[in-house]
Amino acid sequence: MKFSQLKLTTPYLNLDSLFFDEVEPSPLKKPFLISASKEAAKLLGLEGDIHLDEKLVDIVNGTHKLEGSKTFAMCYAGHQFGYFVPRLGDGRAINLGKVNGLNLQLKGAGQTLYSRQGDGRAVLRSSIREYLMSEAMHGLGIQTSRALALIGSDTDVARERWEKGAIVLRLSPTWVRFGTFEYFNAKGEHQKIQKLADYVIDESFPHLKNQEGMYLKLYEEIVKNTAKTIALWQSVGFNHGVMNTDNMSIDGRTIDYGPFAFLDDYESDYVCNHTDVEGRYSFKNQPGIAHWNLHQLAKALSSIVNYEAALEVLDESFGATYEEQYLSSMYKKMGLFEQDEKDIELFKWMLGALESATIDYTLFFRTLSHYDGDKKALLEIAVFQTPLKEWLEAYDERLQKESVSKQDRHQKMLAVNPKYILKNHILQEAINKANVSDFSMIEDLLTVALNPFAEHEELNYLSKSTPQRAKNIKLSCSS
Ligand code: AMP
Ligand code: MG
Repeated sequence: MKFSQLKLTTPYLNLDSLFFDEVEPSPLKKPFLISASKEAAKLLGLEGDIHLDEKLVDIVNGTHKLEGSKTFAMCYAGHQFGYFVPRLGDGRAINLGKVNGLNLQLKGAGQTLYSRQGDGRAVLRSSIREYLMSEAMHGLGIQTSRALALIGSDTDVARERWEKGAIVLRLSPTWVRFGTFEYFNAKGEHQKIQKLADYVIDESFPHLKNQEGMYLKLYEEIVKNTAKTIALWQSVGFNHGVMNTDNMSIDGRTIDYGPFAFLDDYESDYVCNHTDVEGRYSFKNQPGIAHWNLHQLAKALSSIVNYEAALEVLDESFGATYEEQYLSSMYKKMGLFEQDEKDIELFKWMLGALESATIDYTLFFRTLSHYDGDKKALLEIAVFQTPLKEWLEAYDERLQKESVSKQDRHQKMLAVNPKYILKNHILQEAINKANVSDFSMIEDLLTVALNPFAEHEELNYLSKSTPQRAKNIKLSCSS
């Protein structure tokens, strides 16, 4: 089956019209294909090379409709930086329909009923970032929306300066957000909340259908999925930047990539989003914010789930799931496979040492994955060596208790500590080139994004360390 032969369904439109706005995309001028992800195409069961599908650009640009497609924007509310906004919705995303369990959505395809002051567009810069990061997050083994294709255009879009418009075709098993429930709760539309919960169970948690207490169980699964995703973000050093409840997927996956960043040097209170003056969404705050967001969700569900019972679930499940996932990921990154009662102490010491040593988080673990007792390579990448040296001495002692061979440990660590991470300075280089119509780096980045643990000798230039001036910078939210 070719991409243009897919037949879509639109189950979301069976909910009533308060849930969405049927709207046609507004095409971009002179659209052209920049990139398409063969890996994402596989999810749709496509055969052959998606790049060769002559209708691909027209479908992404909204000028050709797949069979069965009906285009619509979804309505939702959300807590933005802690403040409730009763109506947000897809202001620049237009859904095409669903196939193979995935909802296809165009981001940047023009205005909808929910655009408010916005132009409904997404600029090339932010579209490249979202396209690559969706695939990179998957490559790192973290639940995420995916990106099938990216198109550029000649349409001018006004931001701080004039930029060109682009569209990403995104895929997700669900586009329902915490904020979708908050929208109906704020309106007092309690029947709609139940309808939506039933829809979410059908779409994302079918094993819960018709079970006793299924709405509370639904909440529990959302809590656990979210805790797991955030734990994995912390383990890879990912800062999302805009953890508003409208950017929280109901199945816990990562969505809505904006001013995100990976840590360069390990700095726990790093804030990637320039507009986040108070640091609400700082790296270290992410688990606490996820908990806060889940609390808002418990309130929004309170007409169908006992609020106290939900809070109990939140308190019991969030911390436990988070901790289990986070620590097990971190111990693997450290190459510790046996259990020792002092591991937690060693682990906390390591984070403190990384912070005081001023050292690149990703590079530290990748270098540690080759560690054979010679500290030179690790100390060379630290600005202040003493804290790291002291920690490595304790680590040496701890390694004595491991039963796997050094070679095995290295191999296991290399499989969980990425060589390639989509750092801002590398993305920015790809964007600068794209701005002068050179898209070659995007293909290279896609290759390493999907397989970040492999060496890819020929693409070594993508793992070069961050220049001092670009370390842990803040990014503009405008996109
Ligand atoms: P975000 O924080 O990027 O997820 O966006 C928050 C809200 O603003 C969502 O409802 C978006 O649909 C909307 N939005 C963001 N940018 C635009 C735009 N350029 N035009 C219309 N709506 C937008
Ligand atoms: Mg959003």
